[in-house]
Amino acid sequence: MSDSAEDFIRREVGKLLRVDYRGKFMCAPCLVKQTVETWGTAVYTRGQIERALDGVFRSPGALRRLHAFVCDRCGKTTPCLTATPARSGLSA
Ligand SMILES: [Zn+2]
Repeated sequence: MSDSAEDFIRREVGKLLRVDYRGKFMCAPCLVKQTVETWGTAVYTRGQIERALDGVFRSPGALRRLHAFVCDRCGKTTPCLTATPARSGLSA
């Protein structure tokens, strides 16, 4: 069950970061907030969304995780996700 939540969140967060938040950096709490605003909690509860995002941060796949970066939404320096392609000379 948590697997499908994670798949869903992974897909939606990926879309969000490639389209609406293209080139932006988002931290986990802001991504949770954004997902809840977009989808509500009818499909997945807030807890499921938080856990799913945890999984996405642990293994970001096609996305990039930065250990400490300024979130474009809340302005905090915190681990963030982005879909910005890796640039040469920039390593994790
Ligand atoms: Zn944030």
